[in-house]
Amino acid sequence: MRKLSFLIFGLGLLIAAPVYAKVNIFACEPEWGALAEEIGGDLVDIYTATSAQQDVHHMRAKPSLLAAMRKADLVFCSGASLEVGWLPILIQKAGGPNVQPNTVGWIMASDYVEKLEVMQQVDRSMGHVHPEGNPHIQLDPHRVLIVAEVLADRLTQIDRVNANAYFSNLETFSSIWTAQIQAWEIKAAVLKGAKVVTYHNNWAYLLNWLGIETVSSLEPKPGIPPTAAHLERVLSKIKGQDVTAILIAPFENMDGAEWLSQRTAIPIVKLPFTVGGNPQAQNLTALFEETIRLLEQPL
Ligand SMILES: [Zn+2]
Repeated sequence: MRKLSFLIFGLGLLIAAPVYAKVNIFACEPEWGALAEEIGGDLVDIYTATSAQQDVHHMRAKPSLLAAMRKADLVFCSGASLEVGWLPILIQKAGGPNVQPNTVGWIMASDYVEKLEVMQQVDRSMGHVHPEGNPHIQLDPHRVLIVAEVLADRLTQIDRVNANAYFSNLETFSSIWTAQIQAWEIKAAVLKGAKVVTYHNNWAYLLNWLGIETVSSLEPKPGIPPTAAHLERVLSKIKGQDVTAILIAPFENMDGAEWLSQRTAIPIVKLPFTVGGNPQAQNLTALFEETIRLLEQPL
């Protein structure tokens, strides 16, 4: 009898299991993994495909990513061609029917926000450009909030039983985030009008948000590493301009920035770029606080 009741109890668990199954989220970048944590909380399992130390433009569709994709209920990435070298392969080889493009389990964050640098015409001479516009949207907190709303909406569709929990997580996130944006904007007001040199144009949304001007990039064209001739051009272009910093992401090569910094005494500022990009930036809030703190240092 006792054995039987155990068996029945066991069966009950098996039958009940799908209700409590967590939503498996495949996040291409750490910022979307972190946002999924805010909105999904305990109800989701998050696999983050890349780290802040990796250049997401250049990843390979390796077996560990295929394995994670096989389990995914929701694919959550930047889009706008950022992951074009690896995400389509993962989806074709390992993506289930519920995570194919244009299904409920497919979120390309940049599809839902206004993009900067949308190109009218693109050809190969322009380098590694993103024709749909700049995909590096994660450093504008206003756009992040829009993406959070999209994510909450999708999670409620995928996991209807817990819809209220996702809505309430969104509400909490949204009210804290909105207050933080105000505080960040006050704190960063001193940065308005500052000029910077970047390596790649991956700071466009941050700089646009804070009113900072990009004077030049170390890459001669997007995705093309700095050359000696190009660095000389940058040097002569910025002469006489009051440039505050050379911005570098954790995964970018420092050589060009160091070359320029040595000749101009402009400090190199290594920003976290995404969650985990430095030891302090361990969540989305800390990412923005760190970014503003580091940008203000040279001033
Ligand atoms: Zn890019």
